[in-house]
Amino acid sequence: MTRIFDDPARFMDDMLAGFCSANRNYVQRVGGGVVRTHQPKPGKVAVVVGGGSGHYPAFCGVVGAGFADGAVVGNVFTSPSAQDAINVGVAADNGGGVVITSGNYAGDVLHFTEAAKVLSENGIPARTVFVTDDIASAPRGEESKRRGIAGDFVVFKAMSAAAEAGYSLDEVVALGEKANQLTRTLGVAFAGCTLPGGDGPLFSVPEGKMGVGLGIHGEPGVSEEPIPTARELARRLVDETVGELPLQEGRKVGVILNGLGATKYEELFVLWASVEEFLVEKGLLIVDPEVGEIVTSLDMAGLSLTLVALDDELETFWKAGADTPAYRKGNAPVGASGEGLREIKKIAGADRNIVKVASAASRRHAKTAVAMLEKMEAVLADAEVELGRIDAVAGDGDHGRGMVKGVRAALVGARLAVDKNAGVQQTLEWAGDDWASQAGGTSGALWGAALRQVGASLSDRPEGISAQVVVVAMGDGLETVMTLGKAQLGDKTMVDALSPFVDALAAAVANGDSLRNAWAQAAECAEVAATETASLVPKIGRARPLAERSVGSPDAGAISLAMVLSAVAPLFD
Ligand code: ADP
Ligand code: MG
Repeated sequence: MTRIFDDPARFMDDMLAGFCSANRNYVQRVGGGVVRTHQPKPGKVAVVVGGGSGHYPAFCGVVGAGFADGAVVGNVFTSPSAQDAINVGVAADNGGGVVITSGNYAGDVLHFTEAAKVLSENGIPARTVFVTDDIASAPRGEESKRRGIAGDFVVFKAMSAAAEAGYSLDEVVALGEKANQLTRTLGVAFAGCTLPGGDGPLFSVPEGKMGVGLGIHGEPGVSEEPIPTARELARRLVDETVGELPLQEGRKVGVILNGLGATKYEELFVLWASVEEFLVEKGLLIVDPEVGEIVTSLDMAGLSLTLVALDDELETFWKAGADTPAYRKGNAPVGASGEGLREIKKIAGADRNIVKVASAASRRHAKTAVAMLEKMEAVLADAEVELGRIDAVAGDGDHGRGMVKGVRAALVGARLAVDKNAGVQQTLEWAGDDWASQAGGTSGALWGAALRQVGASLSDRPEGISAQVVVVAMGDGLETVMTLGKAQLGDKTMVDALSPFVDALAAAVANGDSLRNAWAQAAECAEVAATETASLVPKIGRARPLAERSVGSPDAGAISLAMVLSAVAPLFD
């Protein structure tokens, strides 16, 4: 259980406030996360680590000399937004460019890729590196689909130490990619974790069993087995991780034996003794092992073993000193900090004072758009718990929360636009931007981009919006989701509800139906299609590693989309 909180919805903000206050010599709060308190060497590449919270010491705990320059911090187990990463990137930049790095999760990838693009367009060269160390999350040959777990630490540390040593942006990125290629992790869980305010764990493991191949967002393991002895467990973890790496006799290896939050250090040390013995038996030379909590998953009971095959370059950076709130090692690099307090720069947000003059028809449609968002907010708030439950079957349980946060943010943006007499285009664009920046998660990025696109396609039409225009705009929205998220029909995502919706809408309009009737019929198709996703096996997103478990349950994002499409139908003229 997570027992200490005031308002679960503000858990991350309250946590960060306390964290920054307790560690004010290291970190300071900025919009979207934290950056170092002290100014690093000018021109140094800034390494910005990121992801949802709930993983301490990852990721804000490793901001400091010799390690990260900043951390983008999302809600518990939820990717931060692109805007969060942009804010932290701007604040962390030292004039040498920015690497934004995280585990390989769709939400983080979408938001951080977008952030790097925006930073680069605004004169701060920025790149991304995504970590894929978890061998249980996809088979060999599909390494790029794997998610990042405790191996994040290895890659983040290598890049950070290299940046401190004066590597250029390209060199830091290349080193990060190499570190990722040479890092592998396998984990086991004995009990699931509970979100702050949640009434039960996200998953449970039967007494005496362990889940092998867990995720760090409460994703259960991929198989369940009886708990072996420490020695047998060590053998298993060592054999499977070593088998994935070019670890010939005599090779140096960095090791992390990581506790997930509710496993005692003493238990880890018992296990470590055997891990060490088996690694030595294989002729490997262990360099600076880390045994303890490095990347946790709230109060999950379990652990993981990470190996990194070291070459000379990686060994240097694995061994390099660091001085951060949660991780201190050797001597922190001289001159890395303490050279005065950092001045926080700000990027100008999209200017909301510039309102395009809109036609009367477009302003009327803008008001309808606000009414639709209000309706959406009502149905999503009602369904929040249920959507979370569906997402938790094979995902991370945050879909309901994410959608409610997103639609509420979108409403703020849309109402502001209408207050300023904007037309439907700008109203939906602001709504989309606010949805994406506030909601985080994969669905937040996709919904935000889709709304923005629908707004752009509707554009300002003095003659008003015809049914044909709506068909085209919804088709453009679908295309945006598919381009950005790269999901195909049948991958078990919201695309499986949106695509049949667009087809049915086009057919009914072509048939001469009124927009209102056509929309209602198409929404029914979407509802059926969303329900039918239950039989699909997920091919993308957080549910994919647990694909089989998800069969029999529909896709959360498809269900929420269909629900919303139905809810707004009566609002068409
Ligand atoms: P996250 O997966 O980051 O936790 P949410 O839980 O809010 O985000 O949303 C999950 C939903 O997002 C899924 O049920 C699915 O419908 C949708 N989704 C995930 N990945 C993709 C993708 N690549 N393309 C389209 N939709 C996706
Ligand atoms: Mg989710």
